[in-house]
Amino acid sequence: MERISAWKKYDETALKELEAISKRYRDFLDHGKTERECVKQAVALAEKNGYRSLQDVISHGKKLIAGDKVYSVCMDKAVMLFHLGKKPLESGVNIVGAHIDSPRIDIKQNPFYEDTDLAYADTHYYGGIKKYQWVARALALHGVVAKKDGSLIEVVIGEDESDPVLCISDLLIHLAQEQMAKKAGEAVTGEGLDILLGGRPLEGEEKDAVKAMMLGILKERYGIEEEDMLSAELEAVPAGKSRDLGLDRSMILGYGHDDRVCAYAELEAMLRLPMLPEYTCCCLLADKEEIGSVGATGMRAHYFENAMAELVNLTSEHYSELTLRRALKNSRMLSCDVSAGYDPLYASAFEKKNAALMGCGVCYNKFTGSRGKSGSNDANAEFIGRLRKIMEDNAITWQTAELGKVDVGGGGTIAYICALYGMEVIDSGVPVLSMHAPQEIISKADLYEAVKAYAAFMKDAN
Ligand code: MN
Ligand code: MN
Repeated sequence: MERISAWKKYDETALKELEAISKRYRDFLDHGKTERECVKQAVALAEKNGYRSLQDVISHGKKLIAGDKVYSVCMDKAVMLFHLGKKPLESGVNIVGAHIDSPRIDIKQNPFYEDTDLAYADTHYYGGIKKYQWVARALALHGVVAKKDGSLIEVVIGEDESDPVLCISDLLIHLAQEQMAKKAGEAVTGEGLDILLGGRPLEGEEKDAVKAMMLGILKERYGIEEEDMLSAELEAVPAGKSRDLGLDRSMILGYGHDDRVCAYAELEAMLRLPMLPEYTCCCLLADKEEIGSVGATGMRAHYFENAMAELVNLTSEHYSELTLRRALKNSRMLSCDVSAGYDPLYASAFEKKNAALMGCGVCYNKFTGSRGKSGSNDANAEFIGRLRKIMEDNAITWQTAELGKVDVGGGGTIAYICALYGMEVIDSGVPVLSMHAPQEIISKADLYEAVKAYAAFMKDAN
């Protein structure tokens, strides 16, 4: 089955729209380098477009009807948008779900030390990374520091042109004979990923004067004491903005396409829904996918189910557990997560005719997983059949994909977790090159097709 580049199908109007979406997406990416920052942007976008806080609706004792739009935030790290449809919740919700956490380097709880007149922060990396990719590059620090008095200090260092950046040093090639002979996975160690923070001693200080200088700046500029790091979440991420990639500007190079490209496509899709969609539609942005969807803000937690319970309660006379279960079971979902784009430079890792091709549209992965589909959500053929019709009816450029050759590796998504409710789920996403690298690559055409596909799915899936 031949796949045709989506680019070949675009007229002037389509190209204009594609560029406009790409521009908005790049802005979202540049201001959304942590899950918290993505939630903030999603809420701002939702409120601007008539969504109300679910919590506010509940506390004001209001009810909800078709056409109403609400959002619900979980611990500032996950968020759900709901647009209520004509049909009762019992007939299911059309869900698009993505994750907004990306691989990065987290600062430890007791991080600071000084060695030979240089000050450092110790780290623990988050998610699957090739550690050698994170050295010798400009890093920014994003996150929050929670003070004992309950206040929260927000930190962003290294994004403004006038800001300093941070860096993890690498060994010079001249002395790297031993390092270069190691396996790539061992050339840079996890404990070796210490971030350089300073190199100037504080005047009059005898011991650890460089660290003292650095701590003084943290205190003066941010009001952060060393012990406040005990209750901090600081993430080191690549500094700087995303860029158009290629002489033809057909691609975007940036940090965190996995999975913010799908998250953003979902948000755009939500805003394209008619005033009164047939079924209730939901955009679900989860945290912690990169470390197994664990924790209170990961997909395995029950915030989605709880929000659905609130909706059942707010749309009916009497709350019924059975209605909730039916609503979940009868739902349909696209688990939106990026896929491995076919890379001619690493052709041997792919089986080409089942690989996601760059620029050939949004992809659907019937299964992911590894070692014989283990850990995957193998989507039902019947559901895929229905999807094919929706994609065709809405003139979407789409493809099916598999994450690399059999037994070469694999990966997971949030699909299998939502499938536990008995709903139909399939993985869908945008092809990415250099996935999990500090700078990943997507095609603007695939982003554009994802936006249209997710909107079509929410509008037409039944
Ligand atoms: Mn992902
Ligand atoms: Mn990932």
